[in-house]
Amino acid sequence: MSSLAAQSLGCGPAGLDVLVREAVLAAGGRLLEGLLDLDRGCAGPRVDCPGGHVAVFVGYRGKTIATVLGPVRVERAWYHCRACGAGVAPRDAQLGVTGGSVTAGLAEMIDTVAAVEAFAPAGRLLKTLAGVTVDAKRIERVAEADGLAAAAERSARAGGILSGKIIPLPPEGTTGGELPDMLYVAVDGTGVPTRTAETAGRAGKQPDGTARTREVKLAALFTQTRLDDHGRPARDPGSTSYLATFQPPCEFGNLVRAAAIERGLDTIRQVVVLGDGARWIWGLADTHFPAATQIVDLFQAREHLHELAKLLEFITPDPAAWLTARLTELDNGDIEAIAAAVGAYQKTGIDGPKGEQVATALAYFTANARRMRYAHYRRLGMFVGSGVVEAGCKNVIGARLKRSGTHWTIPSATAITTLRCQQATAA
Ligand SMILES: [Zn+2]
Repeated sequence: MSSLAAQSLGCGPAGLDVLVREAVLAAGGRLLEGLLDLDRGCAGPRVDCPGGHVAVFVGYRGKTIATVLGPVRVERAWYHCRACGAGVAPRDAQLGVTGGSVTAGLAEMIDTVAAVEAFAPAGRLLKTLAGVTVDAKRIERVAEADGLAAAAERSARAGGILSGKIIPLPPEGTTGGELPDMLYVAVDGTGVPTRTAETAGRAGKQPDGTARTREVKLAALFTQTRLDDHGRPARDPGSTSYLATFQPPCEFGNLVRAAAIERGLDTIRQVVVLGDGARWIWGLADTHFPAATQIVDLFQAREHLHELAKLLEFITPDPAAWLTARLTELDNGDIEAIAAAVGAYQKTGIDGPKGEQVATALAYFTANARRMRYAHYRRLGMFVGSGVVEAGCKNVIGARLKRSGTHWTIPSATAITTLRCQQATAA
């Protein structure tokens, strides 16, 4: 029967269900047109204009809007404000198409696919999954506008929270109404390839000293209440939220602090800031989270120790044993022992460029000694790695923003980053 129906519809590879969906969408579009035509949004001879004046009824004007059912033609009441010199259509606000022609429902679908895929494949995704045709340029415009609006809203909200004008509700307990025990703020930065105009005059890592990327700073906030069966800290399920910005550390710091307040900074017993050795991270922690425990990622510290050992290999009788002993000291958080072992070599005289390299490599440990008391943190049941935010740099940022051949403008990258952080947070 169904194959008969399919034949009579003359269908190719598309199944009957897909064809029926197309017909349903088309019928839905006509239904919506009819509904909107029953009430054309006339609200009497005068309405308020957004500028606070009075706009006068002029007549009815047509407009084609893009909806989740496809394009729909609407005739709606049109008012004119003489003071603004602009038209007002109250119906547009009800449809969420003020200043545009895409409904809020379709915009949400566009934002979802644009966060996942480049704009052209995002259009194909939308066509396949929802049966709606939107061209790549429009997807880009809508997603960029929505992402930037979300970023602006987040900044405004952060400002409100930090100035005390907005007081967020205390966070809900994760399990059985009990409050999470620890709040982690894990911070990192990663480069996003940008157009030449976005990096003009900025120092970078290219051989000629120029930059090809701009750093986006990412924070992953999560809570931890228990240890797992092996006695290791376990993230509270579904507790991770992300935020990212291309703005400088001070602005990023404000956003992160506001987000942490929303996550319970003032009520959760213990706050921990996790990061690599980058100095701006610890400046941010000192300024915005003065009471937090600061921890340098153990795994990056180990890598630094491998590099330090490599520098000293040429005068070490048993390099492997030396490294193993230092790694144990690092795991114990005994930075003084590492410094003493390296100091023994420094005394016997490693000078010149090699000596400076060794001194720089050692300084990473001595400068961060108080952030490397790993045995102590483990006893307290704390995470000692910033893997959550490093994975975030790869999955939330890199997977969409660091594809080869893509060069972003900062507004576009900001918009897509913001949408991706929202999606990753909701996941
Ligand atoms: Zn006006």
